[in-house]
Amino acid sequence: MAGTLAIGIDIGGTKIAAGVVDEQGQVLARRRADTPGTDTAAVLDTIGDVVEQLRGEHDRGAGRRIGAGEIGALGIGAAGFVDASGSAVLFAPHLAWRNEPLRDAVARRTGLPVVVENDANASGWAEWRFGAVQGEPDVVLVTLGTGIGGALVIDGEPYRGRFGVAGEFGHMQVVPDGLPCDCGNRGCWEQYASGRVLTRRGRAAAEAGTPLGRRLLDASGGSVHDIHGSHVTASAQEGDEETTGWIAEVGDWLGVGMASLASALDPGVFVVGGGLSDAGELLLAPARSAFSRSLSGRGHRPEARIVAAGLGPEAGLIGAADIARAATRSQSAAPSSGQSGRPGPFSGS
Ligand SMILES: [Zn+2]
Repeated sequence: MAGTLAIGIDIGGTKIAAGVVDEQGQVLARRRADTPGTDTAAVLDTIGDVVEQLRGEHDRGAGRRIGAGEIGALGIGAAGFVDASGSAVLFAPHLAWRNEPLRDAVARRTGLPVVVENDANASGWAEWRFGAVQGEPDVVLVTLGTGIGGALVIDGEPYRGRFGVAGEFGHMQVVPDGLPCDCGNRGCWEQYASGRVLTRRGRAAAEAGTPLGRRLLDASGGSVHDIHGSHVTASAQEGDEETTGWIAEVGDWLGVGMASLASALDPGVFVVGGGLSDAGELLLAPARSAFSRSLSGRGHRPEARIVAAGLGPEAGLIGAADIARAATRSQSAAPSSGQSGRPGPFSGS
């Protein structure tokens, strides 16, 4: 049957991850490429190349080749603001895209119907369809990487906001006159509750020459600037007390911020994804205590659950593929329903 598979592509600041995804959210074939700088034409070329490679790729699980005709849609998850129609990237901090009409350019290049989605929204959608929060009506996804991203599912439908940019939780102010942020403000949540906190502390320890700093330097290959949050997480997972404390502090800030989000949104569950969620309970246990402690009306209301994401780093590409497949279906099912490239609500399938 034609068109049951979809390609998902997750465009990050350094890597492009792509895969062929089936209707159960399984990734049948994958490709990775370096993001070729910030030049739009070069990024477009790379997307075209990985799509060509994935068409006709061998599906190892099924022991057969994926025919080009089986792939019916292409979804792109990009870090940045995506306009509400799913056609343009309004602003991508790590790419030189400003009002870039990505959807039409990629559609021309590949001959596939294309949907562009914010990468966190794509991940949230994947967790809701196939991952840790399936069937939950009201979900807040918080992704912890270098910064904080987020996505919302409200009443079983993704919520993007009027202009397509809802869920940018990282820049809520949690500390008046706090640490400066790249966004130009001070005291943003992501300065306290993201991987950059661990990176900052790990590098400071290395520069100060503490025993822990020297261990982190060894683990990262000897250069201060190669120390990342993942080295700090690994150290904590090996039982180091100091780095465990850093992660607990980040978890504490995570819980405090989620309590504010609960005041505004009242979700049933928070799902925590992104690279920092590899820290697991080292992060989530302190987050749950801080959440309970900070929740307004605590003790007099049901509390949202806080769970780890289930799909790992491929959530973005899985979600992008599924969104594109749903959009293409709803368009062919209702050809008169306008030109939007999105499923109005994600009715799923
Ligand atoms: Zn900020």
